[in-house]
Amino acid sequence: MSDRPCLVWLRDDLRLADNPALSAALAEGGGIHVVFILEETGEGVRPPGSAARWWLGVSLAKLASAMSLRGGSLILRRGAAEQEIPRLVRETGAGSVVWNRRYGPARETDRRIKERLIADGVAAKSFPGALLSEPFAMLNGAGQGYKVFTPFWKALRSRYEPPAPLPAPTRIPSLPPPPSDRLEDWGLQPVSPDWSGGMRAIWSPGEDGAHERLAQFLNADAGYGQARDRPALEGTSRLSPHLRFGEIAPAAVWRAVRSAETAGRIAQDDAEKFLSELAWRDFCRHLLFHDGELTSLSWKRDFEALSWREPSSTELKAWRRGETGYPIVDAGMRQLWTTGWMHNRVRMIAASFLTKHLLTHWRIGENWFWDALTDADEGSNPAGWQWVAGTGADASPYFRIFNPVLQGEKFDPEGAYVRAWAPELARLPNRILHRPWEADPAQLATAGVRLGETYPRPIVDHAFARRRALDAYAALRGGSHTEGQDP
Ligand SMILES: Cc1cc2nc3c(=O)[nH]c(=O)nc-3n(C[C@H](O)[C@H](O)[C@H](O)COP(=O)(O)OP(=O)(O)OC[C@H]3O[C@@H](n4cnc5c(N)ncnc54)[C@H](O)[C@@H]3O)c2cc1C
Repeated sequence: MSDRPCLVWLRDDLRLADNPALSAALAEGGGIHVVFILEETGEGVRPPGSAARWWLGVSLAKLASAMSLRGGSLILRRGAAEQEIPRLVRETGAGSVVWNRRYGPARETDRRIKERLIADGVAAKSFPGALLSEPFAMLNGAGQGYKVFTPFWKALRSRYEPPAPLPAPTRIPSLPPPPSDRLEDWGLQPVSPDWSGGMRAIWSPGEDGAHERLAQFLNADAGYGQARDRPALEGTSRLSPHLRFGEIAPAAVWRAVRSAETAGRIAQDDAEKFLSELAWRDFCRHLLFHDGELTSLSWKRDFEALSWREPSSTELKAWRRGETGYPIVDAGMRQLWTTGWMHNRVRMIAASFLTKHLLTHWRIGENWFWDALTDADEGSNPAGWQWVAGTGADASPYFRIFNPVLQGEKFDPEGAYVRAWAPELARLPNRILHRPWEADPAQLATAGVRLGETYPRPIVDHAFARRRALDAYAALRGGSHTEGQDP
């Protein structure tokens, strides 16, 4: 047993179970201190956006109370980790510091902290826990990070064995804690106005909420493979914000899915598809690991030279508020605004609209999502945007321009999603719901829709926008574009 306490530094791993750093600290057998630092500055640190701050506040409160039930306490500090960690070591007399690794540019900060601790005679140890696979251990035949998802998934699937579960400790050996900030003083929760009502209504941040969400998803057996593309259904797990904050380990998700499959609670195809989506999360983080500028520059760097437009403030506002005149885009943007989450299919359509129809740099959309998503993830968000924009790794080709009407009709054929989020269109018949500007005056009158008043006319014509985007692409390529089909 160590006579000096161990400091556990939590970051994107707000959980007690399956937390390798916490388990290692407890195994030392002495006292432990657990700290979370609200990092808003520091190399490579991307401070959480508004919706993620709301989630973080609730999640930290839940974690602190779970720890206090076990005799421990959560220390809260705000500032640069490079100052706070050494300060805490001095204040607590810690002989070791442990954490679970992160893989974005902030790992440089972690590296420097580790070096400094070791130089000061303090043991520093990091653990894997955030992903299924570590980026430096998953390389392709050329010894580089994978650039294409399918071989990445094949390699991961063939060699991945989830680690044995690490149960949450029943007791956390308590020590008199050093000074801690008060969570309320961090201002994570919105006030005047408090816009978090839509998020509170559907989410239950925290470790218990994460496990309940997973159990619900596996018990419902909605037929993931088919249902995942239908935004009106609860066809996906909605685990993304829980995973983002590490309230549940991806390894725990993997184990639960495999045992549900073995027990015959979910079909093998659905389990495979779901786990491959979980692996996309890894893939995106690996991309970030190998390209620290993924958030700011196109992965295919030549796309920086595309003649992106500066969108007018009216266009941008219409997109952000869900007033573009394209019902599926608007429904998605309103779902995002209200709940801090948007269905994956609709994320693709809404992102395509911004990058292709408005020819706006994906970075602008990525920033908006960063602020509005509860699950805003430093790998998946830029990678998702770049995939849609055609600028990323293994991306959808640039000339693949989603037609928001056809997408709406295909993936929301009964219109239930659009009716839920754009209720002013609810009384339009299905055949015209996704293209209200084609309705005849009598249809509009019967449905109580006044175009340009109760619901906007399209802010840009699809055919015109498509041509403009293809021309910009052709100019970048210095020749003619490949048409592709209109999906
Ligand atoms: C433009 C755009 C931006 C995105 N931004 C984010 C983001 O900031 N954070 C985020 O977690 N996901 C992001 N995604 C990916 C995806 O939309 C969400 O992970 C998914 O919608 C979350 O819902 P779910 O938990 O019900 O997913 P499920 O279908 O139940 O999937 C299970 C888990 O797998 C992971 N996953 C699924 N699909 C993807 C994917 N395409 N890429 C990466 N991981 C995936 C998520 O962790 C998810 O929780 C983005 C996609 C696009 C197109």
